[in-house]
Amino acid sequence: MSVAWPWAVLRKKARKPNLYPTCVCRRCELEKEDNDHVWKCPSAAETTTEIWKEAMGKINEWGVQATNSYNAARKREYKRAVDRGRQVPRPVPIHWWPPSDADHVRGFSSIGGARAVHSGSPAPDRDEKPMWNVSDLLRGITPLSMLTEWSAVFRTPMSIAKTVLHKFVGYLEAQASELIWKPRCSATIAWEQSQGISTKDKTSKYTGPRGDWSQGYGYITHDGFSTIVAQSQVPDRTATGGWCTEEFGL
Ligand SMILES: [Zn+2]
Repeated sequence: MSVAWPWAVLRKKARKPNLYPTCVCRRCELEKEDNDHVWKCPSAAETTTEIWKEAMGKINEWGVQATNSYNAARKREYKRAVDRGRQVPRPVPIHWWPPSDADHVRGFSSIGGARAVHSGSPAPDRDEKPMWNVSDLLRGITPLSMLTEWSAVFRTPMSIAKTVLHKFVGYLEAQASELIWKPRCSATIAWEQSQGISTKDKTSKYTGPRGDWSQGYGYITHDGFSTIVAQSQVPDRTATGGWCTEEFGL
């Protein structure tokens, strides 16, 4: 990651209530900015839809690549076995079948807000209280439920679905960092400058009272969360943490 983790930046702000008495998002100027709002800010909605579309448009390319390397690996294993004089069945090559739009909708049906982003207009979620949201994908988190659905939808071995899903989430994460997080930082810095907040103010030690960040902050382990998470983003598992958690009644 070329930029600081959002949670780290937001935590730093929580530790300086003298500089940041309110936590209004400087992009929409409407809502409080917490770790979730960074990605759910209305000002980022259009960008999110665009990034999503681009990533969706690359799935077949990633699928073909993953399928080719899968087949090549099976072929190598077969050759090695034959060279050792073992009798093994010749592997049957797997094909990549381009998923239809309905397949895709089924594939991400466990992700809150995904249908709305996919169609570019409000749409209901399958699950009443989805465990994962589009904002989690933008933060580079790969939900296990999505892998299970994708493997069925793509009719491929799990390992191919996993490769494609990692590419998909990796693309979302990289683009969101560039097109959502960085502009968010620019907007915040512009606001800080207008308030006369200097870098020195931001780095100097503050000893006054603080919001109790530590209680609202922590690693939250959801069921279904597995090892398939971008390692760089593991500390970002603060579902509701923000720099003004006490105002959220946490
Ligand atoms: Zn906002």
